[in-house]
This record gives sequence, structure tokens and C-alpha cells, in this order.
Amino acid sequence: MKEALWFHWILLIWTGLAVAVCVVLLFLNAPYGRYTRRGWGHTINPKWGWFLMESPSLVLPLVFFFTSSRPQDITAVLFLAMWEAHYIQRTLVFPLVMKKSPYQMPLLVMFLALFFNIINSSLNSRYLFVLAQPYGIDWLLDWRFIGGAVLFFSGLVINIHSDSILRSLRKPGETAYKVPQKGLFRYVSSPNYFGEIMEWFGWAVATWSLPGAAFALWTVANLAPRALANHRWYQKTFSHYPPKRKALIPFLF
Ligand code: NDP
Repeated sequence: MKEALWFHWILLIWTGLAVAVCVVLLFLNAPYGRYTRRGWGHTINPKWGWFLMESPSLVLPLVFFFTSSRPQDITAVLFLAMWEAHYIQRTLVFPLVMKKSPYQMPLLVMFLALFFNIINSSLNSRYLFVLAQPYGIDWLLDWRFIGGAVLFFSGLVINIHSDSILRSLRKPGETAYKVPQKGLFRYVSSPNYFGEIMEWFGWAVATWSLPGAAFALWTVANLAPRALANHRWYQKTFSHYPPKRKALIPFLF
């Protein structure tokens, strides 16, 4: 079978899996962070967990890119730069600066995320750097690239800024949860997830690709149920929780 054909079959199964995972996560919160509970086996320090599980997304696209025939292609270079801007922050910076958590991360969660990152980064980079026709320099002036890149970088800024607001809530050594009041937290309970979803929708538009669209769908599948759970958790835990604050999308949801 030709690679393009089996690639599309894998992508179809991968997309179906995202829908199934979303349904499961509506009923079962992934057991890390505030939803950690007993019975999920061995655990790892969350800093190491984040570093190890995100590493494939940092490394594999570089391997696909430099073993391809595209290193001279400016559009491919910019796609790689966008991707790596996110994953340098997520793999190296985020675990380094994250505050002490009261919880360890189950190894099962780490391995599931590792599996996700291997498949997702391979699909996106194999497509962009090998299977797709070169986009050409004209793509950089196309509304899809420009609009997608604006969405992507706006999402990245919102995500990083919101994560930094969460970090600032705990003083050194503290492990308690508090009500965040700054930035987009004034409007939603999980603006870091909102920013992340914006980023990968921006990526899907900028690359105008099915693997990009599948990644955006997976991000919603992972984060929308958790944003809903976070919102309910805040409302239940803090009696003075701002009543007008939404779960994920300002003024809407
Ligand atoms: P959370 O918002 O649950 O937690 C982020 C950090 O902030 C954790 O260290 C957490 O501590 C701390 N924190 C959260 N809420 C509070 C609070 N009220 N008071 C004090 N500290 C708090 O995010 P996740 O851990 O789920 O995700 C981290 C990043 O990874 C996000 O940017 C997210 O967008 C991204 N992500 C992306 C996914 C994707 O599919 N693309 C999937 C999952 C995450 P503690 O660990 O102790 O709870």
C-alpha cells in the first residue's frame, strides 16, 4: 500500500480515537494535578513526568526535518520554528519553573501522554516535511498562513502568561490551591487551556493540513472536559468564586 494511503487510514483512526478519548474524559478526569487519586500505580515527580512525556514532540520533528529534503525551504523552516517555540517552552521551561505540587504524576499518565506525543509529532512532521507538496514561499502571504500564525502566537502568549499567573499563586514551599484573579482568569477558569486550544487551531489553519486539524481536535478532546471539571472544582471548593466567570471561552462557555 502507498504511504499516502496508509497515512490517511492512520489519521482517520487517530481522529476517531480523539472523539472516544473526549467522551471518556467527560466522565473520568485524567488523574494528575488536583485530580490525582489512589489506585493508578507507580508515580513520578511531575517535573520529570512533563519533561519525559513531552520530549518526543521536541526531538522527533527535528529528526524528520533534518533527514528530509526541506531544510532549505523557508516555509518548512517557519513551521518547524512555530512548533519548536511551543515545545521548547513545554518540555524544558515549563517543568523547570513549575511550583511544588502536593501530588506525584502516575506513570500511566506519563506513558499515555508519551504515546500521544510520539504519534502526534510524527504525523505532523512526516506530513509537513515529507508527504506534502512543498508549500512554497507564496504560502507565507496566504491569509491562511498569516491568520493561522497570528492565532498560534496569540494562543502561545495567553497560554504562557496564564501558566505564569498560576505559578505566582504559590509562595516557595506552598502547595495549596488558590483563586487566580489576574489576566484572562477574570473571564474564564482555564485560560491556559483556552490559549493552548487557540494555538493548535492556529497551527491547523497555518499548515492547512489534516494532521494539524487532528491535533487541534485532540487538544479540545483533552482540555475541554478538564476545563469544565476545573470550573466545577473551583465553584465547589471556593464559596466566593466569581459567579460570572466562564469555564473555557470568555463570555460564552
Ligand atoms: P493546570 O492549570 O491544572 O496546572 C498548571 C500548574 O499550575 C500546575 O503546576 C498546578 O499545580 C498549578 N495550579 C493550577 N491551578 C492552581 C491554583 N488554583 N492554585 C495554585 N496552583 C495551581 O494545567 P495542566 O497541568 O493540566 O497543564 C499544564 C499545561 O500543559 C497547560 O499550559 C496546558 O495547556 C498544557 N496541556 C496541554 C495538553 C494538550 O493536549 N495539548 C494536555 C494537557 C496539558 P498542581 O500540579 O499541583 O495541580
